[in-house]
Amino acid sequence: MRPRLVAGNWKMNGTRAEILPLVRSLKDGLNPAPRAEVAVCPPFIYLPLVGELLEGTPIALGAQDVCEEAAGAYTGEVSGPMLRDYHCRYVIVGHSERRQVYREDDGRVARKFSQALSGGLIPILCLGETLAEREAGNTRPVVERQLRAVLEQSGVAGLRAAVIAYEPVWAIGTGRNATPAQAQEVHAFIRDRIAERDPETAASLPILYGGSVKGANAAALFAMPDIDGGLIGGASLSAAEFLAICRAA
Ligand code: PEP
Repeated sequence: MRPRLVAGNWKMNGTRAEILPLVRSLKDGLNPAPRAEVAVCPPFIYLPLVGELLEGTPIALGAQDVCEEAAGAYTGEVSGPMLRDYHCRYVIVGHSERRQVYREDDGRVARKFSQALSGGLIPILCLGETLAEREAGNTRPVVERQLRAVLEQSGVAGLRAAVIAYEPVWAIGTGRNATPAQAQEVHAFIRDRIAERDPETAASLPILYGGSVKGANAAALFAMPDIDGGLIGGASLSAAEFLAICRAA
């Protein structure tokens, strides 16, 4: 059976005063440890604080982004080895907000993925189509193109220590989640494309769904055969909602 993962992407939210009670509630609510692995991805500046608060708990730490270079003159960037220094296990790469707002193209995302692996991190690679792309019938070609860039850079072996998150852009932060059937269809497509290169990697790779997951819709999504957990944005800022999602996984 594939491992299940629920990862909370806090994005650029939370102050120190808000994070302390949120982490306390998650620690209480996830004791005893759930069967699914749980991770939280705070903004860079709070990684040391949250890492300290999570010490000795089953909750893993993740970052929201990583530089595509290992070190050097890259003002404002944070490298994979730096994230490992602060005990990050996961890092999100290719989130649609990075692709759209910061114009990260497939090649840069693929280099970030590769840097995450070299830094000893588990990349959570986000793939997903916009509403216009879906309506034009291009969901599969878009997701395949995004995936191919990573396969060309890191090979299928790169996916052996990775997680994929299918995140339709039209479902992120909109309150409009993909139906379980819509999500399952794309998850199965992604798994099939990987299976063409390496069936074992495809069978063991966790593929998360992300896009307006809440306590109320999580169980139906996670019941689909190729959905192995979730990447959670807005609902990860509420302990009650996030814990409900973790229980559903
Ligand atoms: C995300 O940003 O990765 C995400 C899935 O956001 P939300 O859950 O708020 O739609």
